[in-house]
Amino acid sequence: MNLTDNLRDTAEHSPNAVAIKMDDAEITYAQLSGLAAKTARWLRDLGIEPGDRVAVSLPNIPHMPVLYYGILWAGGVVVPMNPLYKDREFAHVLRDSGAKAFFAWNGVAEQAAKGAADAGVTFLEVDPATFIGQVSEHAATKAVDRAGEDTSVILYTSGTTGAPKGAELTHANMIRNAEVCASESLIGLSSGDMVFGGLPLFHVFGQTCMMNAAVLTGATLTLLPRFDPERALEIIERDKVTHMGGVPTMYVALSQFPDRSRYDTSSLRRCVSGGSALPVEVLHAFEEAYGAMILEGYGLSETSPVAAFNHADRERKPGSVGQPVEGVELALVDAEWNEVPEGSDGEIAVKGHNVMKGYFGNPEATAAVLRDGWFRTGDIGRRDEDGYYYIVDRAKDMIIRGGYNVYPREVEEVLYGHPAVGSAAVVGIPSQMHGEEVAAVITVKPGMSVTEDEIRDFAKERVAAYKYPRVVRIVDALPLGPTGKILKREITLS
Ligand code: AMP
Repeated sequence: MNLTDNLRDTAEHSPNAVAIKMDDAEITYAQLSGLAAKTARWLRDLGIEPGDRVAVSLPNIPHMPVLYYGILWAGGVVVPMNPLYKDREFAHVLRDSGAKAFFAWNGVAEQAAKGAADAGVTFLEVDPATFIGQVSEHAATKAVDRAGEDTSVILYTSGTTGAPKGAELTHANMIRNAEVCASESLIGLSSGDMVFGGLPLFHVFGQTCMMNAAVLTGATLTLLPRFDPERALEIIERDKVTHMGGVPTMYVALSQFPDRSRYDTSSLRRCVSGGSALPVEVLHAFEEAYGAMILEGYGLSETSPVAAFNHADRERKPGSVGQPVEGVELALVDAEWNEVPEGSDGEIAVKGHNVMKGYFGNPEATAAVLRDGWFRTGDIGRRDEDGYYYIVDRAKDMIIRGGYNVYPREVEEVLYGHPAVGSAAVVGIPSQMHGEEVAAVITVKPGMSVTEDEIRDFAKERVAAYKYPRVVRIVDALPLGPTGKILKREITLS
């Protein structure tokens, strides 16, 4: 099986089911597969051969799934990029992936065209008003057959260190993970369901758990180009959204949205959270406000992404990322790849159908993280007696204060327990006395007020003396990445 077969199967069984929706625009499964077949012909005419990489950079608009499946239909490899990239970033990915062509949304055409020119790659501008018409001018072509072990996508990720590297994922990686996501004990998707598409599709979480899981099951994906809690609530009400995937900042924004009771969100059944730690307070606040369960899971671009999850049919443990998903093993290892003693913290390693082939064209970086089928994640974890995993923190985010290890995640969890804290990030800042000092940057919930000293004292009462933030700053907003993850490296404190 490959990803194109999935689309063809669904189009055959449910041709008139809506695949993609955005406001008034709708594309059925028959139309999506027809457009993919025509895009593939266009790509062939441009000289794209099976195995060639084709880059795309679009926000969440229906053209993204059309191009994604069109490239796969032609036997190509999709290289998605964040439309917020600047020309240098586009050029890096285009060069590194050896892309033959680059389709970008006209809203970012200037930077994208510059990047393409630098990298010497054919550039094609996607004007949403005319693009579907352009595709439709081409004849359809038969899908190029690809095997499960063939590469389907290359996803650029900073991984644990350094410049973005391309995680090379196969058709089998992506399909198995979409199956796991869609299964009853995780998201539980089936035909007729309405999936909220607020996570970027260029990122693995939105791609696998929302788009590919919807295509696999014949559900509908309703797109929102840029997450905003009010727009999200309008869409949930209008389209009777049943399932949602999100990162914690989305659940924070939705739980704290003042006018939420104006919207009918009773259709919402199950939500999943991943990408960063979901504070337990946020999980409870969201579930209380919306009456829908959130299951938290864990994964990375390199693991397609899902590796562990709280399953709907087992005990759920808030604060944990659950147990390894079907067909996947997790272990906790030390620097020498040996398993740590039971009960100790260690770096999470993952083995199974979800692990990437490697970093594209980068054998050294691959060798550093892959051994005997095991992939080291760079995340520190813990396992309880029931085999549930807890993410302690990213290895590189750990703060060392005067020789003691401080995991920001633990301190953030405490800060979220303060009623006035909207969001919180704990970072290390240089200190002459201790090497590093613990600092917290927070936002305050609308209508609340609190002082920096009050926050410091609140934390001081609740954690060991070496862990509480000596420095607290209240800011209007924290810097967020494309999926809504807090970007710690962009936090600067004077
Ligand atoms: P990405 O490749 O962009 O998906 O980022 C993967 C990283 O997100 C992982 O290495 C973790 O550090 C982090 N992450 C994902 N899910 C969780 C979670 N549930 N709790 C804590 N961190 C997470």
